[in-house]
Amino acid sequence: MPHRTERQARATIHAGGEWLEAIFGATREILDPADASPFAVVADGDEKDAERAIAAAREAFDQGTWPHTPAAERAALLRRVADLLVRDREELGLLESRDAGKTAEEGRVDIDCVADAFRYFADLVAAEAPGRVVDAGSPDIHSVVVHEPVGVCALITPWNYPLLQASWKIAPALAAGNTFVIKPSEITPMTTIALIDLLAEAGLPAGVANLVTGPGHTVGARLAEHPDVDLVSFTGGLVSGTKVAQAAAPTVKKVALELGGKNPNVVFADACATEEGFDTAVDQALNAAFIHSGQVCSAGARLIVEESVRERFVAELARRAARIRLGRGTEEGVECGPLVSEQQRAKVEAYVASALAEGAVLRCGGKRPEPSPQRPEAGYFYEPTVLDACHREMKVVREEVFGPVLTVETFRTEDEAVFLANDTEYGLAGGVWTSDPGKARRVAGRLRHGTVWINDFHPYLPQAEWGGFGRSGTGRELGPAGLAEYRETKHVYQNLAPKPVRWFAG
Ligand code: NAD
Repeated sequence: MPHRTERQARATIHAGGEWLEAIFGATREILDPADASPFAVVADGDEKDAERAIAAAREAFDQGTWPHTPAAERAALLRRVADLLVRDREELGLLESRDAGKTAEEGRVDIDCVADAFRYFADLVAAEAPGRVVDAGSPDIHSVVVHEPVGVCALITPWNYPLLQASWKIAPALAAGNTFVIKPSEITPMTTIALIDLLAEAGLPAGVANLVTGPGHTVGARLAEHPDVDLVSFTGGLVSGTKVAQAAAPTVKKVALELGGKNPNVVFADACATEEGFDTAVDQALNAAFIHSGQVCSAGARLIVEESVRERFVAELARRAARIRLGRGTEEGVECGPLVSEQQRAKVEAYVASALAEGAVLRCGGKRPEPSPQRPEAGYFYEPTVLDACHREMKVVREEVFGPVLTVETFRTEDEAVFLANDTEYGLAGGVWTSDPGKARRVAGRLRHGTVWINDFHPYLPQAEWGGFGRSGTGRELGPAGLAEYRETKHVYQNLAPKPVRWFAG
């Protein structure tokens, strides 16, 4: 990506095909969470910058070619974007690692998943029939239902999977023929900025893709409320998501919300009956809770384990959690990076303190690690933490911690397991571990969560919808429903032999 060095670093607002500084000239330093050092400076936009980008997206939608470009051409462009992502995989993966604190390997896997999202939505629109002919009951009537782009889409994304979450919105929005303004998280905007360049390199017309870097309460809020925005798709926390829904309501725009989760991982004793089963269930529980330091919306942060295996299971889990190698994500051999910010670590520390005050038993972690060459003191590191003897009234069990903190609850019966797993205001994802296929399907059928894994945790498929029940959000990303979010449905009824109706006699 040599183009990154060719322009001023602070011109990171993209409107109408041009890279611009913030109108009032404000800037923000982007910090490396491994040592708190600034490694980039970006524009810190505000409401005026949002308005400039919305105007560009509006013009490109109302007067531009993209909404009318044939589906096959839109699909070809998305595939070119996927190829460019593969070309720049190493560089983008490292940038994601540095920006969000994840390991370099996680960064590379993220870029692969981003490319997959672009390919999936390319294939989906390329294979579609242009409309659905409806039988109107008369040869004189031609009736067809077609799908059209919604218009100008505001896309607001979080910091944990910056480019992946962006791709789940940008790829379907473009596949459907929309124009957009994206606002990445103010602390992790770097790969989204890079993607905008790749879209232009792939041949996307100017004005279709616009980006504003800046805070949520100014840029994000203006995008959500603006009358020229037709849809807002938001991924982030429950508090901000509620504000977005409120800001969007007066203009009755379409709203899609992908919010948090407090995801149960239910382990039945029969899953641990063999050594291999036990090892797999423990290993996956570790992965469910601690990958990316638990900063995952679908993190399996609530272990709900059958009482008869609890002690052995938790002992092994805590033993392995204590051995997770923490460090700068780009260092060889590191398994977990730092938390994304000082603010996020302070939040995690407060949750652990509240849990201990409410009677939880600390089995491992619960503190910042000793500094080392791989873990600078200034970095936002926190040890993987297992809290035993938790119960449903505790704040740490009810609220999303979004850090490396696993709580342990126990159950005796299948009904109790289901009750606990559903005992949350969220409903994003959950896992069930059992060797009994009938029990697996029964429990999966009773869980009120948007994704249920049986004997697995975390995988998703671009072709399967992702989203939440309850306060985990509204709408779906990925799959056919993830494309439908970005479309209006229109019924075109054509009378081939019109005659007077004569309802009125005069
Ligand atoms: P956040 O809500 O603080 O911020 C998300 C985005 O919203 C950021 O770009 C932010 O600037 C913007 N924002 C903040 N206030 C706003 C406002 N009033 N109006 C408009 N925009 C506003 O969330 P975060 O801390 O960046 O991300 C973590 C959260 O995201 C967690 O709750 C996590 O579960 C959730 N998440 C959900 C999914 C999912 O698929 N459901 C995926 C990833 C993350």
